[in-house]
Amino acid sequence: MSSNIVWHNHKVSRSDRAHNKNQRPCLLWFTGLSGSGKSTIANALDVALHQRGYHTFLLDGDNVRHGLNRDLGFSDDDRVQNIRRIGEVSKLFTDAGLIVLSAFISPFSSDRRLVRNLFPAGEFIEVFMDTPLETCEQRDPKGLYQKARAGEIKDFTGIDSPYETPARPELRLDTSTQDVETCVNGVIDYLKSRNMIFEKPG
Ligand code: ADP
Repeated sequence: MSSNIVWHNHKVSRSDRAHNKNQRPCLLWFTGLSGSGKSTIANALDVALHQRGYHTFLLDGDNVRHGLNRDLGFSDDDRVQNIRRIGEVSKLFTDAGLIVLSAFISPFSSDRRLVRNLFPAGEFIEVFMDTPLETCEQRDPKGLYQKARAGEIKDFTGIDSPYETPARPELRLDTSTQDVETCVNGVIDYLKSRNMIFEKPG
């Protein structure tokens, strides 16, 4: 990094921005196997929070790869870079006062730790989608498991590439036993219990 780059402190602080929104910014980091329900739950939660008047932003794996990270492939280095950039972008959105929802497989503990360490304590909320592989594979919403089993996709998480289970996630959801509404309400209850969101009067 160039030594001539100076960090500017803004006149409107991060907490000023959040205060106006009646919420505390945080990053909800959905991690889990393909088909475990990350996008479905993150989207449903996004809608539920938005309808209640909270200010959110959803970052989704495929979409980010179409834009910001279009220069990255799937090598080990590029995967680390992919997650690092998403973490930094999420950080900027929380600085803007938003509740950020990010849905990425992010199979490696070290990558998730890297993102966690960008945030003040309590603001990184790891949501582990603990849906069994068998269920994910049966669903196979994008047909990727079938391709991976046929050897058409290499290094597919859960098949021939590992998924490192989070040791201490803030939240654990299993969409094979919990419906979408139950999962969404579980996250909202957690946010309330941690005073990240406040009931609006009326
Ligand atoms: P991911 O983002 O983890 O790859 P998706 O959300 O894209 O997973 O896919 C999950 C699939 O499982 C979707 O087709 C969804 O409709 C289905 N599904 C069935 N039951 C549930 C549930 N309780 N929660 C979330 N998804 C569910």
